Amino acid sequence: MQSAVDRKVASSKQSTSQVERHSTLKYPHRLNFYDISPQGDITIEEFETCALDRLRVLAEIESSFARNRPYEELKEVTEKQCSKYLPLASTGAHMVDRDAERRKDHVGHFVLRLAFCRSEELRRRFVKAETTLFRVRYDSDVHSEREAFLNSRDFDWIPVSDEERKQYETELAAASPTSSKETSTRAERYYKVKWTRVPDLVEKRRVFLKGGYAYVPSREQSSIVFQEFQTNLTKALDMTAKALPRLDEDTRIVPILNNLSQGFLAGVSSEWSTAEAGSGDQITAGMVDDLARKHFPMCMRNLHDTLCRDRHLKHFGRLQYGLFLKVLGLSIDEAIAFWRKSFSNIQDDKFNKEYRYNIRHSYGLEGKRANYPAKSCQQILISDQPGSADSHGCPYRHFSGDNLQTALLSMYSGQGLSVADLPEIMATVKAGHYHVACTRVFEITHARQGVKKGEGVGGGESVTHPNQYAAKSRELEKEKDDVDVVMD
Ligand code: SF4
Repeated sequence: MQSAVDRKVASSKQSTSQVERHSTLKYPHRLNFYDISPQGDITIEEFETCALDRLRVLAEIESSFARNRPYEELKEVTEKQCSKYLPLASTGAHMVDRDAERRKDHVGHFVLRLAFCRSEELRRRFVKAETTLFRVRYDSDVHSEREAFLNSRDFDWIPVSDEERKQYETELAAASPTSSKETSTRAERYYKVKWTRVPDLVEKRRVFLKGGYAYVPSREQSSIVFQEFQTNLTKALDMTAKALPRLDEDTRIVPILNNLSQGFLAGVSSEWSTAEAGSGDQITAGMVDDLARKHFPMCMRNLHDTLCRDRHLKHFGRLQYGLFLKVLGLSIDEAIAFWRKSFSNIQDDKFNKEYRYNIRHSYGLEGKRANYPAKSCQQILISDQPGSADSHGCPYRHFSGDNLQTALLSMYSGQGLSVADLPEIMATVKAGHYHVACTRVFEITHARQGVKKGEGVGGGESVTHPNQYAAKSRELEKEKDDVDVVMD
């Protein structure tokens, strides 16, 4: 796992280690500057899982930027994602394998470094998302543990002496006024750092500048820490990028890295686990039409409408829709009944010869008998690009602006979507955040079930899989029905 680049990165850092290999607790702090790469063996599975789970968190942070969430809201959503996919307990927590959690965090970060060092665009986005994740964790860290972490590193800040503070009292108070009566300039501690290390504070004129130094009040200390994190990571990514060509021969790792970076570029983390679709919830061929109108995301709604209109779907359309219906709960017998009825222009003979085998194949009953999963948003967005005569793909990405708006109104106006909602949706589409647009449509069309703006498909999470969209929509309907029964 440790590359030459990583070794270089490690050796160029301070001697204070984030990973104390000989102490009882390998990772003494919850926060990590990732100066040193993970040590020891790692399986390909662990390599991938750690990265995918971290990517889910980072993708949600990116979605939050796209949705202009205020920091407090972003923090709440990120913490929820972290507790699901990347929990990091405090050092004082009991009954938790803190080392295992911290190792997962550590490994995931380094795998994503490899995946995201490959282009300027990826590096910029990765650094922004990672710095935000660090900030969220820093803000939620237990005070004493945060202090211990800060003391474990040399941030190269120079405490301002009492004399100097008195000398510049007026300037300091003018540059960084305090709202608290108790914290006067006299009581506040100040640190000097080279002004280039706190560009955000300089830009906002929140620090006194003298002799090339910025005088940072202790309450703004975090700016130095975040800036340091960002600068270190930017440098480390540049170094990793230079060494990456050596990895290109590794046929096990490169496809994983490609998949991770493509997902991040598409704005979607990766597979939402289809196991979350809710098992045991069988549906029949006769139910599909009603479900499509009430619960399907636009990609599947479009395929369903095309199938009803043309009595046919081309290969990739059948594949995308068929696997989605399978995960939704359509059994093999019901699937054959559904497709037979839908292809009403085709004779039995032709259907049996050309289509029945493929349907059974997608259920793992023919050929190599693999249980194919339904396609995630990431796969739909980036693979098998549809031509003009095709109907698979993601409408938010593959429809023209005019067609998308017309389709949105015709599909969802009965569920509360109006012309007034279109500018916001189209602005998100234009910025390339297709799944965020889809999430906003979910919120609008489920407002009657109590879904508010920003809630997404639960806990602020964005849509990452068509089956996740449909499962959540059905769950909301069920909850509403249960409430109605209780009220009666
Ligand atoms: S974002 Fe995903 S679920 Fe929504 S329409 Fe596109 S592919 Fe379908």
